[in-house]
Amino acid sequence: MNDATAAAGVQPPGTVLVTGGSRGIGAATCLLLGRRGHAVAVNYASDRAAADRIVDEIRAAGGVALALQGDVAREADVMRLFEAIDRELPPLVGLVNNAGVIDQPCRVDAMDVARIERMFAINVVGSFVCAREAVRRMSTRDAEQRWRAAGGARGGAIVNLSSAAAHLGGSGQYVDYAAAKGAIETFTIGLAKEVAAEGIRVNAVRPGIIETDIHASGGVPDRPRQMVPMIPMQRTGSADEVAEAIVWLLSDAASYTTAAFLDVSGGR
Ligand code: NAP
Repeated sequence: MNDATAAAGVQPPGTVLVTGGSRGIGAATCLLLGRRGHAVAVNYASDRAAADRIVDEIRAAGGVALALQGDVAREADVMRLFEAIDRELPPLVGLVNNAGVIDQPCRVDAMDVARIERMFAINVVGSFVCAREAVRRMSTRDAEQRWRAAGGARGGAIVNLSSAAAHLGGSGQYVDYAAAKGAIETFTIGLAKEVAAEGIRVNAVRPGIIETDIHASGGVPDRPRQMVPMIPMQRTGSADEVAEAIVWLLSDAASYTTAAFLDVSGGR
């Protein structure tokens, strides 16, 4: 048991890493996981104060959480992140590949390579490398060799964040983002089948228009309100509503669900 666990006086069922857990959907997911008794690794890129607020809230309720800086697009950061989890928290049982970015509205014929590379580096490569490290720790394939001290690998679950944009295409605004999420969907199916017999389930959630800072970061803070007429339920979604879907897919209640996609998009 490490300092964070001992301080809380509990032995949680295992750790879930949420990339981009400091704000928006990731933050709501961290808080819900904390309430369900998981130790939570709250990853963030730059906003330390936001990550600390989430950690403090989980700990104040008696849970176990740790803020861990790391840019998922940088392999060295991801390695450091997972090593910190190995050292400081109970064994990993889940990964939420949530960290993601959009960019300013832009047609494909005006996109420079730096923008496209950043979009894929964070949204796609980051998810691949985090999943690679999670599978190395959670797979029951060679449980004999691994994690003997920690009681053996127990399997686990991965949830990837796709987007309704993967199917809608993002025309005129962010085809690069939509295509990156399309890659995440193929990745979800392929990885799910690859590790299905090793105790790991891999699924994806497809949020629609959710009220978070991501729209302002893409230069269109008013986007949720503008989109309401196009949403069958005639409203935007909340980060808490997406977190419920993510946490269900991570849980044993979803024990026969893998390579699946859950739309949380108000019917869009
Ligand atoms: P958000 O409010 O903008 O929050 C993004 C989070 O990701 C922050 O915690 C941020 O950390 C972190 N992050 C950004 N770049 C990172 C990097 N390179 N490495 C590690 N962390 C990084 O986003 P959100 O709306 O909650 O979106 C979460 C996920 O849902 C994304 O994958 C997004 O594509 C997807 N999604 C969102 C919507 C929506 O309408 N909101 C719809 C469909 C899909 P810092 O604060 O430190 O920068």
